[in-house]
Amino acid sequence: MGDNPAIPSSPMPTMDSQRVPVQFARSAMRVLILGGTTEASQLATLIAGDPRFDAILSLAGRTSAPKTQPLRTRTGGFGGAAALAQWLGDEKIEAVIDATHPFADRISANAVAACRQAGVPLASIVRPQWRAQTGDRWQSAPSAEAAAIALGDRPRRVFLGLGRQELSAFARAQQHHYVARVIEPPEASPLPRHLALLQARGPFDRDAEIKLFKDEKIDVVVSKNSGGSATYAKIEAARVLQLPVIMIARPNKPAGHTVASPEEAVAWLAHEAPRSPRGV
Ligand code: NAP
Repeated sequence: MGDNPAIPSSPMPTMDSQRVPVQFARSAMRVLILGGTTEASQLATLIAGDPRFDAILSLAGRTSAPKTQPLRTRTGGFGGAAALAQWLGDEKIEAVIDATHPFADRISANAVAACRQAGVPLASIVRPQWRAQTGDRWQSAPSAEAAAIALGDRPRRVFLGLGRQELSAFARAQQHHYVARVIEPPEASPLPRHLALLQARGPFDRDAEIKLFKDEKIDVVVSKNSGGSATYAKIEAARVLQLPVIMIARPNKPAGHTVASPEEAVAWLAHEAPRSPRGV
């Protein structure tokens, strides 16, 4: 190399050899958070005001009065995976965090496909499932429809700790009396004939759940295996009262790079997402 006249034997000083610190001005990373969960709200709080990120939170619009968020928010579906990919390009999104509910599998499938198509890195916050503990009397069901059948023929007093979207599945088991807790009244029909609605938003308290189950003479609980702490009190209450729980299993939810918490999602954004191969 040194014999090549085209290459000077004493190279010109570089920024590095002069030990001049090099700082690359980098604009804030444009991030989309797919939300609607406690984790998404926690993530929004963590990165709001962080100059490294310019984030927008997307909600499905399932509740008419969602919690106020510290980030710019958009509401409603994108119109499928291809439309989401287009939106990511139009908005110059550089990374996506899927922080949607464990039972929201369609938006996650769309996110995986859209990020792949648009070449945008994707991380998914995966909330651990609840596991049965000593004293739990769980029966697993693959869907709300299967849970309705699993209630059996004999009339029972049933607590439904589900989203309002699942209530219509229980219209096929009209022999039972249902107490359903929802954030907003259901629009869907048909609904079970004997249905009492309680409107409330978590987190819930174990002792209050025990009192509710006793007051309502509940003899079986139906729950989705949502995981997390906000709605776990009903499972603890069922354990204390020795009530059976019909636990609806999670759907197969597609994911990008898996992280376990909002804090891990921030670390991924800060240290890994920019270096990730484009796409998922
Ligand atoms: P989904 O079946 O995964 O999504 C259905 C469609 O809603 C998606 O294809 C998408 O429409 C739109 N969507 C969902 N989440 C979105 C978001 N964060 N931003 C923009 N659009 C979004 O989810 P789901 O119908 O809302 O709920 C399914 C299950 O998850 C139910 O059991 C529900 O109780 C539970 N869950 C959902 C939420 C929530 O915030 N979505 C919260 C708690 C529990 P396009 O295809 O048009 O883009």
